[in-house]
Amino acid sequence: MNASFSQLPLNQSLLDNLETLGYVQMTPIQEQSLPSILQGRDVIAQAKTGSGKTLAFGLGVLAHLHVKTFRIQALLICPTRELASQVAKELRRMARAMHNVKILELCGGTPMKKQIHSLSHQAHIVVGTPGRLLAHLERDTLSLEHLNTLVLDEADRMLDMGFYDDISAIIATAPKTRQTLLFSATFSEEIRQLSQQFLNHAVEIHVKQHKRHTPQITEHFYRIPEATRQTALFTLLGHYQKERILIFCNTKIGCDTIADALYDSGIDALAIHSDLEQFAREETLILFANGSCNILVATDVAARGLDIDAVDLVLNYELPYENAVYVHRIGRTGRAGKNGLSVSLCRGDEPLFEQRDPLTWHTLESLDNLAPYSTCAPMATLFISGGKKEKLRPGDIVGALTANAAISADAIGTITIFDAYSYVALRKELADTALQILQNDPIKGRQFRVKRLKVT
Ligand code: ADP
Ligand code: MG
Repeated sequence: MNASFSQLPLNQSLLDNLETLGYVQMTPIQEQSLPSILQGRDVIAQAKTGSGKTLAFGLGVLAHLHVKTFRIQALLICPTRELASQVAKELRRMARAMHNVKILELCGGTPMKKQIHSLSHQAHIVVGTPGRLLAHLERDTLSLEHLNTLVLDEADRMLDMGFYDDISAIIATAPKTRQTLLFSATFSEEIRQLSQQFLNHAVEIHVKQHKRHTPQITEHFYRIPEATRQTALFTLLGHYQKERILIFCNTKIGCDTIADALYDSGIDALAIHSDLEQFAREETLILFANGSCNILVATDVAARGLDIDAVDLVLNYELPYENAVYVHRIGRTGRAGKNGLSVSLCRGDEPLFEQRDPLTWHTLESLDNLAPYSTCAPMATLFISGGKKEKLRPGDIVGALTANAAISADAIGTITIFDAYSYVALRKELADTALQILQNDPIKGRQFRVKRLKVT
């Protein structure tokens, strides 16, 4: 039995809110890191994917916040926009207990001008990606002079070559007396040493995994001839028949090719990579996460940190070169105490196998179920041209949809509300009925433009 949050020196409203959110017992990383974090110590912490690291550093950030001082006191840096937005969302949920905490997202793909405007109105917490944060620091539109807490999520990625220069430049503008928190599921010895320059007498935490108690990600490796990679993919999708599948490819072109091939054979699949516009990246993730699309084909932009509920299968169409990337990819399944499955297509001589334990190989010939993939996505998504600016809330959308009894509340899935627009997922067979309802009846007295999104 893990310890409960209530034994931590946190104020009662934060604790009550955690309980409302369903967080009662701490996960091992939370139990081991929170006491030091709350004492104000620097922390470098390693714990497996899906083990609740966000809540650990998030509570640290909120516990030290002076809400009355309207200055940027905490900065959280993440490797991708999607992860930054997820972390900001989780912080907002935790901060509900506190009055008027302003959390700003600063990522690429959004106009600078809009962000500069928001910054001019101040904030308490900034969550962002390195390039855009640096752009603001260079223009003096962002200042870290009042910073108390700095967090690097996916810290080993943030300090590897791709990001190191940006990160050091950002940290150089922060006060030396800050608290620094580094979290990841993987740390190489090299990165651990490199990180020391940003830390001050840090407490090192390494959560041991008790094999018997932790849920497992079952890993299957299929050895296949290179020329049969694509056919092998279809065979495996048919064999496993999973509902929510994340396929990783090593290149953007590879992603598009596979998503197209799936789509051409009648399987709903979407691709996500950094060449897509931000709006498309966001929408794609929503369609996948809410059950409107079974398969998401991704580059490693989706490998780190994303917490999508119930990913049944992570399929490596190609293996990554590094073990850390592999660990993060398969860590998108088997989250928050659930079991997961990962399947990898390999030649067998990939560099990865020099870094891993011996493996059990599977072959396609041994498979018994060879039916084509025929699992349908259960949900469909409607786009509504109104959001927070129109004061739209989930309850308003549910209310409008269920008003004439044609649709019951349990047929409605995830509702996502942005500033200017919203998405509602609902059982696919009711999507056209729902579309008619929302096109004919106003929501909260207003008529919005509503359309059904296609998965293409
Ligand atoms: P990590 O960053 O370690 O990969 P996340 O912080 O994304 O993992 O958390 C994974 C999931 O676990 C999230 O859905 C989160 O809501 C859930 N979670 C975190 N802490 C707890 C807790 N104490 N009890 C129950 N669920 C939790
Ligand atoms: Mg995380």
